[in-house]
Amino acid sequence: MKIKKSFPDKSGHFGSFGGCYAPETLMGLLIDLDKEFQKIKKDRTFKKEFEFYLKEYAGRPTNLYLARRLSSHLKTLKVYLKREDLLHTGAHKINNTLGQILIARRLGKTRIIAETGAGQHGVATATVAALFGLPCVIYMGSEDIRRQSLNVFRMKLMGAQVIPVQSGSKTLKDAMNEAVRDWVTNVRDTFYIIGSVAGFHPYPVMVRTFQSVIGQEARRQFLAKEGRLPDYLVACVGGGSNAMGLFHPFYHERQVKMIGVEAAGHGLSSGEHSAAIAKGKVGVLHGSKSLLLQNKDGQVQIAHSVAAGLDYPGVGPEHAYYHLIGRAQYVSVDDQQAMGGLKLLARTEGIIPALETAHAIAYLEKLARLVGANRRFARTPKTVIVCLSGRGDKDMNQISQLI
Ligand SMILES: *Cc1c(COP(=O)(O)O)cnc(C)c1O
Repeated sequence: MKIKKSFPDKSGHFGSFGGCYAPETLMGLLIDLDKEFQKIKKDRTFKKEFEFYLKEYAGRPTNLYLARRLSSHLKTLKVYLKREDLLHTGAHKINNTLGQILIARRLGKTRIIAETGAGQHGVATATVAALFGLPCVIYMGSEDIRRQSLNVFRMKLMGAQVIPVQSGSKTLKDAMNEAVRDWVTNVRDTFYIIGSVAGFHPYPVMVRTFQSVIGQEARRQFLAKEGRLPDYLVACVGGGSNAMGLFHPFYHERQVKMIGVEAAGHGLSSGEHSAAIAKGKVGVLHGSKSLLLQNKDGQVQIAHSVAAGLDYPGVGPEHAYYHLIGRAQYVSVDDQQAMGGLKLLARTEGIIPALETAHAIAYLEKLARLVGANRRFARTPKTVIVCLSGRGDKDMNQISQLI
């Protein structure tokens, strides 16, 4: 494994992944955004402002909780949960939308747009738009609007306008196209809040920076509790923002193993899954080059997962890079196993995770077996930090139907 100092480079590349494949009209804005982002990284006032909202509004720091009963069930693992599920709006997404709306304000933008699939990023965006009194337009596939009516209701309650997208498969990727179209037209006053470590440079690195608060806190908390670094980090991967937020602050610590869990949906060989790293090919989506589910003509393939938030055909370019250099390992968990993970955490700890997060929990059983099978390691449990990216409340209807 070759660990280089700092990524991305100036043009937003993580090795050969990333970059900025944008229409001409957006280039000026993306360059300004990158400049502003470079500035705020060193700006004490921005840092203070961001920290203020994370603490007072979102509820940070989140706990790093030792899951004793889960650990004794797993036997070979000592599991700590990074409780992003306790944040306002119930998941890690608020870290990023708060950071981006603060940048939008600095750039003097007066209108917010976003796209959403399951509606979670739409809700997190509508939340911060209401918080700062900015008008907000959310693009959402009409099929997703039907499936996620509760989130649509939430967004509208907070004053956002939800625009149904009728084109293509009427899901996330079509909503993305529509949001970009809006942005191109209204680039002067509009800021586009992207929901994961994907998209045109500088979004992947910007979202990583805002979400890195997860890993920075977890690292500090773990050191205080255990006096050393963890053996494993485990997180689910849709676009990859909660995983990268946890992983990145440990990038240089070679002894810390990172495991990203993709959604295998109905199974990796079924063609109905969201495992862009396991099964994707190199392609360009949403402005950057990464691994991407596509058919043999290079058309974007529709992703499937029981967890709407993992239902994304691509993955952030930095994960594609970590995969390439072997810095992180990527595995997958199918719909049924994820349901098992959800029940396991509910029964051992009294915590119902989001269906997305349940993928990370489910993988722990496999990891526990692998660790146990290795005789050298069997005696003292290995330590793990799992990113508990969100709570299950949003999924209760769906889960009650599945059970
Ligand atoms: C959206 C979401 C995810 C997937 O997004 P990433 O960018 O991969 O983190 C995971 N968990 C929850 C709870 C989500 O809402």
